[in-house]
This record gives sequence, structure tokens and C-alpha cells, in this order.
Amino acid sequence: MTSDNSASYLQVRDLEKRFGEFTALRDISLSIDKGEFVVFLGPSGCGKTTLLRAIAGLDRQSKGSIVQAGREISNLPPAQRDFGIVFQSYALFPNLTVDSNVAYGLRGLDRASRKKRVGELLHLIGLPDSGAKFPAQLSGGQQQRIALARALAPSPGLLLLDEPLSALDARVRIHLRREIRELQRRLNVTTIMVTHDQEEALTMADRIVVMNHGVIEQIGTPEEIYRRPASVFVANFVGAMNFVGGKSSGAELVRCGSVDLASNEPHGFRQGADITVAIRPEDIAVRNLPPGGSNIVEARIVDLEFLGAFCRATLATGLGETAELKADFSINAVRDLNLQPGHSLPVRLPPDRLVVYPAA
Ligand code: ATP
Repeated sequence: MTSDNSASYLQVRDLEKRFGEFTALRDISLSIDKGEFVVFLGPSGCGKTTLLRAIAGLDRQSKGSIVQAGREISNLPPAQRDFGIVFQSYALFPNLTVDSNVAYGLRGLDRASRKKRVGELLHLIGLPDSGAKFPAQLSGGQQQRIALARALAPSPGLLLLDEPLSALDARVRIHLRREIRELQRRLNVTTIMVTHDQEEALTMADRIVVMNHGVIEQIGTPEEIYRRPASVFVANFVGAMNFVGGKSSGAELVRCGSVDLASNEPHGFRQGADITVAIRPEDIAVRNLPPGGSNIVEARIVDLEFLGAFCRATLATGLGETAELKADFSINAVRDLNLQPGHSLPVRLPPDRLVVYPAA
């Protein structure tokens, strides 16, 4: 997302949406580039569907503006906007064949062009022979691909996907993630997808818009969102995270319990301020600790949970009486170091992996 520049395709400015007394969206501003795949991510009720529907004109905003491809669309009805939409529930017409479903948005074309375009689309989604079937004769994943073909048929400037994968089983979901993303790249169609599934967002998005209680918490690439979460909410919502309370004890130093921890960058809190330090379980190092290195703390393994690909340890440390850390150790590390509950060992919290927030 850029500020208003030439690549920007969609701009949402100061959007607000009220339902009676309730404000579902507040101060929503964002800008999406041509060809970008942007995901609105957040917990149930955070407003992501409301925002998508406002962009489509299905739920008109109470305030603010939306500009698409240089055209102010804020007050246009959906039919006059340029988008295709796919819903969680497929929403195919059950009494129409696949051909007729896909052709639905192509009524302006003559018969031969329509037939050709439907053929192209069915080929594109990998279901070239399903045109004569009815939706009920297809699996959920196949129906959702037809819904995608129907949305793409008129070559819309904007593709809107409202939780398109949530109704599908896990295997189909993972397969379709990749298919949708490849198709989107090939067509270079600017796309917004709504999901509450963080893994889906991290694997599919160019940029993620993390929302909570009707506001945007952070906009960034998946890596930025994961590595540098802008708030405790984002840190908690995306991935697993440890939080430990402490006080600022220097520009790049915090004190947790009896331990001083260095962070790589100045954290910006005045000396003595209450802070929360965050670190991801997989960032806690147990091997190759630099001799005399910073941020090495003694830990006692309270519990060790086998999770297949790795083990999640619960560690008691000197970071505070109640502060237990979750740490993910590889199976090799657990075996080579013979890690077991009750053992004590030094672990390292690498300074470049610590994020410091105001006290929660
Ligand atoms: P979910 O994943 O559960 O769909 P969401 O983030 O998409 O959640 P929205 O559907 O956008 O959330 O709803 C945001 C808030 O607005 C919710 O508190 C919801 O109850 C409220 N809301 C949505 N539509 C209406 C409506 N038509 N009338 C009143 N309140 C509404």
C-alpha cells in the first residue's frame, strides 16, 4: 500500500461505518496498488467484512470516500462499480448449469463470444469439462472455483473475496490458496480477501491489513506483520508470542525480574517506564550460544510438549516470578542436548528478536 501515487489503484479515505449507535469502522484509510493481493485479517466482529462490503457498495459507508482507478465511487450502487465478488457460501445459482453460472455476468456479449469466454474461464480454473453440470454435482472446492470464474468473467478491475476458503476442508483449502494466488498473479487483478485465518493471510498476501474493533492496527507485508508487530494485539493475534512485563532501564535495555535484556534498537521508552517485552517461541535459542553473549538467562524446563515437527518447552526463568516462557526447540536439539522436564540450561533471547511495547 502506498500513499497516493501513480501505482495506487484503490484509495479508501477516512471511512466510517455506523449501524445505529454502533460504530463498526473508524478512521479507515488505506491505499492499494494495481495488481496487489491485500488481505483484511482480524478476529470475528472486527469489521473486515463491513469494510469489504463498503468497497463493493453493498453496505454504504456513513462517512469517508472510496476512489477506484481514479474514479470516485463512494456513492455509486454496486452495479455501477467495477468488481467481482466471491462469498464463503459459493452462492452459485443451483438451478443453472456451470456454463450459465459463469456466463451470468456476460449478458452484454453475443452468444458466440459468451461461449468462448466461458470456455476460457473453465480452462483457467482447471475444470474445462464441467460446463454442463449443476452446482450440486460438484465438490465444495470445485464450486468455489466456479464462483471464482463467475466473478472473473467480466474481467473486473477489482476482485473481492469474502472468506472464500473457510467452508472447505483443510486439504482443499491449502490447495486452493495456491491456485487462487497463481491465478491472481497471472491476471494481475487487484484483489482484496477477507479472512480470520492468519496462516492464510501470511501465505497469500502481498500486504496484510490487521483490524481490531473497527480500526486498522497495522498494514504491512506478512514478514513485517510477523517480525515487527505494531501492537500487542497484532503480536498476540498473528503467531505465538511470549509477553513479559518489565521496566525500561536504558535506551536499548529493559529489566525483567532480575535480568537486564538488551534490544537491538532504541525502544523509545523513558527510564523506569513500565513495558512489555515480546519474543516468539521459535526465537529462543538453546544451541550455539555465544560465550559471554548478551541476553543469556538460566531456564528450568517445566514441561516439554511433543508437537511432531518440534517440541514446545515451558521454561521458568529469572525474568519474573510469574513469567513462564514458551520456547520451540527442534527435535534434534531435544535429542542432542537430552532435554527433559526438570533440567536447567542457559537459553538466549536474541536482542534483534525482542520487541518492546508499552505495558499491557
Ligand atoms: P466475521 O469474521 O465474524 O464476519 P467481521 O470482522 O467480518 O467478522 P463484520 O461482519 O464486519 O465483522 O461486523 C463488524 C461489526 O458490525 C460486528 O460487531 C457486527 O455485529 C456489526 N454489524 C455488521 N453488520 C451489521 C448490521 N447490518 N447491523 C448491525 N450491526 C452490524
